[in-house]
Amino acid sequence: MARVLITGGAGFIGSHLCESFLKRGDHVICMDNGSTGSRENVAAFSSNPHFRFMDHNVSNYVEVDGPLDMVLHFASPASPVDYLEMPIQTLKVGSLGTHNALGLAKDKGAVFLLASTSEVYGDPLVKPQREDYWGNVNPIGPRGVYDEAKRFAEAMTMAYHRSHKLNTRIVRIFNTYGPRMRMKDGRVVPNFITQALKNEPITVYGKGEQTRSFGYIDDLVRGLHRLLEVEHHLPVNLGNPHEMTVLEFAKKIIALTGSKSEIVYQPLPQDDPQVRQPDITKARQLLGWEPQIHVDEGLKRTIEFFKERLAR
Ligand code: UDP
Repeated sequence: MARVLITGGAGFIGSHLCESFLKRGDHVICMDNGSTGSRENVAAFSSNPHFRFMDHNVSNYVEVDGPLDMVLHFASPASPVDYLEMPIQTLKVGSLGTHNALGLAKDKGAVFLLASTSEVYGDPLVKPQREDYWGNVNPIGPRGVYDEAKRFAEAMTMAYHRSHKLNTRIVRIFNTYGPRMRMKDGRVVPNFITQALKNEPITVYGKGEQTRSFGYIDDLVRGLHRLLEVEHHLPVNLGNPHEMTVLEFAKKIIALTGSKSEIVYQPLPQDDPQVRQPDITKARQLLGWEPQIHVDEGLKRTIEFFKERLAR
């Protein structure tokens, strides 16, 4: 039985991760300051005696009683809309928050896992993106607050590994979707699904020619557990290589929901990556992992979740 701290544990990915550890019989401490996470995400298991909630901002000094086997650092705004609204908090949680979480892991002799992102590749000039690609990031653009915070977090994690021999992992998470995403977090999946379910116009940014590759949450969580089981300290991509344009994605959502929505075009946000597709060769070879849930199936489950939320 392990004792695990998950920062950002009340967020979309964090809450699924909490649940997966509890299912294995482990003890989970969920740390969250509620800035984009919510107690509702952990309500279903918050009375589990192995679960503890800590209302705390990891960017401030962190103290946790007792031993810890793992520190999983998932706290951060992750939607472009959120990190544009909270630029300084985003930079702080990626830098100070990562430093605090690493220091705690070192103190406790715990394994440390950093939730990094495909955004470290910026607006990539290669496709698909392999882990050895250094990226194309505009440090002073609006998205730089997230991209550079995560790049700093990776550098800090590697420095703790090299200098302090900390047992670290870095996962670069590509677009992930599923139940418990916030309806209004501004990302393409919740936006399109809620617009389609309400028969409101679907807002495609730019011409919709930019591409994304969407991975279902359960596949990601399975990959994270595999990554924790192997000793590998360099970054590993986790995502679904099934790539599509945003316009194709809009049409898919309309078809899956049977919506009467029309598509409208709005300006493309600054520095919006033109392409994004993970090369998952490393995850396949190292972890024996690959996505199992087809996007149509994952989207059906996610649509059901949003339908239920809208009905409330
Ligand atoms: N997007 C869109 N309409 C929306 C929201 C997003 O066309 O209502 C586009 C956005 O410009 C980007 C893609 O969908 O090209 C994915 O955006 P998201 O905010 O989900 O995250 P990103 O992958 O850019 O981090």
